[in-house]
Amino acid sequence: MAMIRNDWTKEEISEIYHKPVLDLIYQAATIHRQYHEPNEVQVCTLLSIKTGGCPEDCAYCPQAARYHTDIKVEKLLDVQTVLQKAQEAKEAGSTRFCMGAAWREVRNNRDFDKVLEMVKGVAQMGLEVCCTLGMLTEEQAIKLKEAGLYAYNHNLDTSEEFYDEIISTRTYQDRLNTIANANKAKISVCSGGIIGMGETIEDRIGMLHTLATLPEHPESVPVNALVPVAGTPLENQPKVSVWEMVRMIATARILMPKAMVRLSAGRVRMSVEEQALCFLAGANSIFAGDKLLTTPNPDYISDQEMFQVLNLKPRQAYKNELTESLNV
Ligand code: SF4
Repeated sequence: MAMIRNDWTKEEISEIYHKPVLDLIYQAATIHRQYHEPNEVQVCTLLSIKTGGCPEDCAYCPQAARYHTDIKVEKLLDVQTVLQKAQEAKEAGSTRFCMGAAWREVRNNRDFDKVLEMVKGVAQMGLEVCCTLGMLTEEQAIKLKEAGLYAYNHNLDTSEEFYDEIISTRTYQDRLNTIANANKAKISVCSGGIIGMGETIEDRIGMLHTLATLPEHPESVPVNALVPVAGTPLENQPKVSVWEMVRMIATARILMPKAMVRLSAGRVRMSVEEQALCFLAGANSIFAGDKLLTTPNPDYISDQEMFQVLNLKPRQAYKNELTESLNV
């Protein structure tokens, strides 16, 4: 059984990342099979509950108010609309429902109270509830936990060294502080990044190093390929190749064997064969539904067809807890 380690060095990670690709996939697939059911894939839905008008300047994001994109600014959705969307996602086979708001940080106001109600309602449906709401204090994290929040998404996006090139309105340390606050409230952390933003391989290794040396590995690690959006500073970035995604996913799987490694943004530009390679390399989670916040994603029907062709089974909700309670 591969050991769970939090003391990886950048040199070790670089050696893994640069292995011949077939050796890399084989090693990742072997570890994947030790810790997970290899034909099982978690299906998550991500809903934008508050779209656009964000004061931050993330260079990849069409929701930043300062970029001229065709995103329409919308206020926070009402609780009933969100619960209806969650019910539809559940009926379509999702077991995790993630709600995203284009906020810099959570504020203690009526909108946050509404989000707490949404979390409560979605948790009562038996779905794993996740939120991505920007920076969070420990007190706010505790309130979300008490409402039934299962996971908090807060991506590192890239390496500490490259971070300033992508975002200037907050620091890497701000990111790490929010992750620590979620941890303190005993909320699972979902944290990963995006490739294809002009970073070097060392930056990719640097980001994986930060994630894999956190005191506790994230429960989920989303690996995104940039989907360039017209009007953002990264609109002309070239497409990320499938081999770059495979290397990131396989390395993440080897470094963090227990994590759910999520093949996230960028699937819309991948064939079923390319996605199958990513699953073989250790990805075991996807976002379903034709939108990922505001960017396009494969629709339910294409994913259903892919699950049939590859004989994949959806992972049940709260599987970690069920497995632990049965001592399996
Ligand atoms: S990624 Fe999030 S924080 Fe950054 S601009 Fe977009 S909505 Fe705002």
